[in-house]
Amino acid sequence: MNPAVAKTKSSPRKRLQKTPRWSLRQARGLQILEAPPLAQLDWIVHGFSTRPGGASELERHRDGRKTSEKVLNLGFAEWDSREHVLKNRRNFFAALNANGMRVIGLRQIHSDIIHIVHSTDSEPSVDAPKADALITNESGLLLVVQVADCVPILLADKKRRAIAAIHSGWRGTLQRIAEKALGRMQMEFGTRPRDVIAALGPGIGQCCFEVGPEVVAEYAAKFPEAREWFKGPFDSLARGDNDPNWLPWLTMRPPGHQPPEPRAYLDLIAANRSILSAAGIPSGNIFSSDFCTACRTDLFFSFRRERVTGRMMAAIGIRRF
Ligand SMILES: [Zn+2]
Repeated sequence: MNPAVAKTKSSPRKRLQKTPRWSLRQARGLQILEAPPLAQLDWIVHGFSTRPGGASELERHRDGRKTSEKVLNLGFAEWDSREHVLKNRRNFFAALNANGMRVIGLRQIHSDIIHIVHSTDSEPSVDAPKADALITNESGLLLVVQVADCVPILLADKKRRAIAAIHSGWRGTLQRIAEKALGRMQMEFGTRPRDVIAALGPGIGQCCFEVGPEVVAEYAAKFPEAREWFKGPFDSLARGDNDPNWLPWLTMRPPGHQPPEPRAYLDLIAANRSILSAAGIPSGNIFSSDFCTACRTDLFFSFRRERVTGRMMAAIGIRRF
């Protein structure tokens, strides 16, 4: 999938989005990906981290050679030291100009649980709360979610000055976590969807996100429009008919000559876009980076592609004036 930096002239969908290019801002030796419509809001601090430029050393095997790469890993992992991760996080937050903000993270569990953050909350005594979205309307708090293929979504209500950071992989998307976070903002802060800007950061693109029939069936059961988000034999996979034609033992074909097992590819960006738009956010207010994490492992981490890899963060906060 082409990144947003590649020009598309003819696509009507692109024109409708009026997508200004997402920019990679250089700061403190890092590259911070910014969504232009959020960067324009002076009361907001935001950014999506990228791969290059950190203190962590990720080993890679290429052409039988072992090499090590310096990366900005922001998630604790067995292959990395706690020291490096903390140093990377400090550097990332400084590059966002979020110094002095209290960082609020989560133990992400691919759920639809939304956590509301207040500046008066005491520090969590043991661990971060288990949830997959954070919302607040208070300043001085930096809401962060961690990703490596799942779609990070940032919301900003321009009128009520409220924000959300959401982690939406295929399970979260299936559970409509972005819509639920928006609903919670409506309830808690009086947010009206038409005032909300949504920025969908880098996640795995449809080009690389192969899913099994069970995922297709679950989406088909929950979303009438799900067919539009998949490439592949959606209907037969959704019906769950194990089409015997491709089963090698029935077709009696010699090994290696079976027709390929049907596969489907899920477009998480399209799904979240559609869910947010159905929830009332004008489609012109919904922006996506169009980077595929699995295609662009030079710039991002991809769990699907690499297995042993780092984590990125999407962060948003309301400035203190
Ligand atoms: Zn891809």
